[in-house]
Order: sequence, then structure tokens, then C-alpha cells
Amino acid sequence: MPHASNVMLQRRPISSGTPALFLDRDGVVNVDTGYLSDPESVTLRDGAATMIAAFNAAAWPVVIVSNQSGLGRGYFDLCTMLAVQERIEALLLHEGAYVDAVFLCGAAPDDVSSLAEWRKPAPGMLTTAGLLYGIDLTRSVLVGDKVSDMQAAATAGLCKGFLVDADCIADIQIVPIPVHAVNNLSDIYPASLLSW
Ligand SMILES: [Mg+2]
Repeated sequence: MPHASNVMLQRRPISSGTPALFLDRDGVVNVDTGYLSDPESVTLRDGAATMIAAFNAAAWPVVIVSNQSGLGRGYFDLCTMLAVQERIEALLLHEGAYVDAVFLCGAAPDDVSSLAEWRKPAPGMLTTAGLLYGIDLTRSVLVGDKVSDMQAAATAGLCKGFLVDADCIADIQIVPIPVHAVNNLSDIYPASLLSW
């Protein structure tokens, strides 16, 4: 039986009362190769560092919220999951971008324990970040590549979502917040949020 767990990493102090940029990880920050378990194979997605750096410069907290069911499925262990995460952040830092906090949900899809409260489409990672850091969820946005990302954003009370590689855009009508399809991540920056 694989040992699942949820992990929260705070990288920087986060001041309360501000909105945050929430990011799905695989397929948004880095190229999604499926149950990523080799730190050396990590590649950032085009525009991800540029987008994140723009929010860093505007003092928006940037928070990764990522399902990592490969942990609960036994495809990789906790050390490997953390090594991949460290590698992603090192690559971002190399391009002048950083994340303020990271939430990783290791629950497998059939997990019925409380760990699953963090597994998107459940909103647990977002609401926990809101409670812990005093993030203003109602002014926060999320960038993801799946309908489940948008559902988590809506249930947590975020104001809008951005969907990359939007081949699932037809399914988005079920999500009760505005969802914008984006091709280029660098089109998302704080001032741009006013015009979306
Ligand atoms: Mg994804």
C-alpha cells in the first residue's frame, strides 16, 4: 500500500489581504510528461517564468496547487516528489521567478481519507492557503489546464480562471466563474487581469 500524503511548503513570507496567483503545476509551470518523477527531465513551459516574474514584481503571492496522485498510486515516493518540485523551482529561479508557497496533494483518485479534501476538483488546497495566509480568494485567479482546476477555483470562490491548451474548453460551461482560454502564458500579468 503506497504511502500517500499531502505536502505544504512555504517559501516566502506572505502578507495577508492580497489576492494570489494560483497555478496548477504540471502542464502549466512545467511541461506535463505524466507522473513526473525524474528531476533531470523537467522542462519549464514557455512563458511560465515570465508570467510568474510579473506577479512577483507586483507583490502578488504565487501559489502552486498540484494534484500528485503518482504518490498515492505508488509511482514515486515522497523524496522523489519533493526533488521534482525543487528542480522546478530552481529552473524558475534561474529565470528570475519564484513561488511563495506550494501545495501538493498526494491522494490517489480512490482515496477516501481526509487527504482527498485537497485533491482537485475539491477546493482544499486553495481554501487552506486562503485561511493560512489570509489570501483574498475573491480577487484571486488560477491558471490550469484541466476542467478540475477550474472547478476547484470556482468552488473556492476565486474570481476567474485561465485555461491553457484549452481542448476541454467545451466542458467549461459547467464552471460557474469566467474562464478564459490562453495560448501564451506571458499574456497573463497583473494589469492584464483587468481586461480579461
Ligand atoms: Mg495540469
